[in-house]
Amino acid sequence: MTESQSEGVGRPGPDHDVIIIGAGVCGIYQLYRLLQLDLAVTVLEAGDGVGGTWYWNRYPGARFDSESWTYGYSFSKELLDEWNWSENFAAQPETLGYLQHVVERFDLERHMQFGCKVDRVTWNEEARTWTVELADGRAPTCRFLMTAIGLLSAPTMPTIEGVGDFRGQAFHTYYWPHEPVDFSGKRVGIIGTGATGVQVIGEIADKVGSLTVFQRRPNWCAPLHNSKISAQEMADIKSRYDEIFDRCAETPGGFIHGPVPERFFEADPEERLALWEELYDSPGFGIWLGNYREVLMDEEANAEFSAFMADKIRQRVHDPEVAEKLIPKDHGFGVQRVPMETDYYEAYNRDNVRLVDISETPIERITAQGIRTSTEDFEFDIIIYATGFDAITGAFDRIDFVGVDGLKLRDKWRDNPITFLGMGVAGFPNLLTLAGPTGGSVSTNFPRGIELAVDWATDLLTHVLENSVTRFEPTAEAEREWVDHVREMYGMLLLRKAKSWFTGYNSNVEGHDRTRFMIYAGGNPRYRKRLEREAEAGYPGIRLDPAPAA
Ligand code: NAP
Repeated sequence: MTESQSEGVGRPGPDHDVIIIGAGVCGIYQLYRLLQLDLAVTVLEAGDGVGGTWYWNRYPGARFDSESWTYGYSFSKELLDEWNWSENFAAQPETLGYLQHVVERFDLERHMQFGCKVDRVTWNEEARTWTVELADGRAPTCRFLMTAIGLLSAPTMPTIEGVGDFRGQAFHTYYWPHEPVDFSGKRVGIIGTGATGVQVIGEIADKVGSLTVFQRRPNWCAPLHNSKISAQEMADIKSRYDEIFDRCAETPGGFIHGPVPERFFEADPEERLALWEELYDSPGFGIWLGNYREVLMDEEANAEFSAFMADKIRQRVHDPEVAEKLIPKDHGFGVQRVPMETDYYEAYNRDNVRLVDISETPIERITAQGIRTSTEDFEFDIIIYATGFDAITGAFDRIDFVGVDGLKLRDKWRDNPITFLGMGVAGFPNLLTLAGPTGGSVSTNFPRGIELAVDWATDLLTHVLENSVTRFEPTAEAEREWVDHVREMYGMLLLRKAKSWFTGYNSNVEGHDRTRFMIYAGGNPRYRKRLEREAEAGYPGIRLDPAPAA
């Protein structure tokens, strides 16, 4: 592989064999795998550096909810041996440093171009190539296009009047400044109490002059219980990596936490309580994913566990009225992704922190000085928008995908995303939507999911190249079958009823203030088996066309 090959200089035909859009966790690994196939690849990244999610989200408190040592790539023993995580749930700067290290170690950066905002991609049927139009006017071409554009990379501001009027500092958490923000003595307002808002609030409550939290719907949050990793612990982790990754491969979410084998209805109330107390005191997602499986599937089990969690909030928040406002009433525990918190509930015991329930007193507008609700004018120096994302399909919708006969992906996905295995789309040949909607990696510990997706995509591409295939496209029938299966899997879990990014809900995006079928809820092992079956059978769901006769 030479640099000139990578840039496509002096080669006939398209500029590149493959263009990957996005240099985050997924794009980095996909690039690594394709370079091993000696393909001419370039990665186009909108940011000024690698890291995707971990490049952008620099807000205070940003850190893993996956155990750090389950989040690193598993493909290189040397990489695993040389990298030391400092905390069980590492903070954003460390994760970004890790991804930068991977890129440097495998000499990947020379195949990447930064500051490249992709506006439109167009399929050229005659040439069997894609043209990728960039905001700067360039339009490189490629035989195969891969999207590694993230699940939560299209941030959304609230549709509240006057957002542009505020004269102080204002940030969406995703676009947090690269320079430190000085909070000392500042009057800060924050909108949003999802996983992001919860991390910010816990982190800054004791650093600001005052903090006013504008909450529309509370979330069920659980303690992260983060801790440092000693040199000895890290050595032990390194000796157990095979075991750790095997464990992640067998759980539905790709975490070390999987449901306990005991059944909720067979355990007596004391046994349930003992397990729940233990989980509440344990680090990470055990409380969500290592619980009785019925908690996420059965209304009665879910209600009982939600009552247990509500009591925990009441115990931790001193003011009973505030505690009640922090307890979700419209959904049970775990049907939305659980924010993992550090000192979140305790923040509300501080004199400088105030909770404003905007389901009771809605925000009317943002003013030059702050925020006006139906009953009060608040003045702020800083407003933080922790208002989330147009998740999973949002990053696709921000690019104009034009497929066969001018078909627009945006139109095809208007009601619900339609894909084959979350990896490809009929009408969009030679496109691999790594970590795309309805794929398995969307709902898992991300690196565990994307390694699976990238390995499968790389095997498919190898098969394509070895068989002189120049055009591949999922069949409409295979797509229909997959979409039916995706819906069936949603049916198993209570999360199907929740208004969250798992169901594509976003009140700030036209047409997305309703629930959709966005993720593969069948779990990682089942998804992996389905991918393997497809490959072993020679890709029956994908039409593979050799070059047309000259
Ligand atoms: P989110 O879960 O979608 O939360 C957005 C918050 O903003 C919600 O509280 C929402 O209220 C509120 N909101 C949105 N529009 C509003 C409006 N117009 N007026 C008032 N409130 C509004 O987004 P997020 O917190 O950024 O988290 C998204 C996902 O990112 C997480 O679920 C997680 O997967 C990932 N994440 C992970 C970590 C980690 O630990 N690794 C950390 C942060 C985020 P409603 O609930 O009423 O809609």
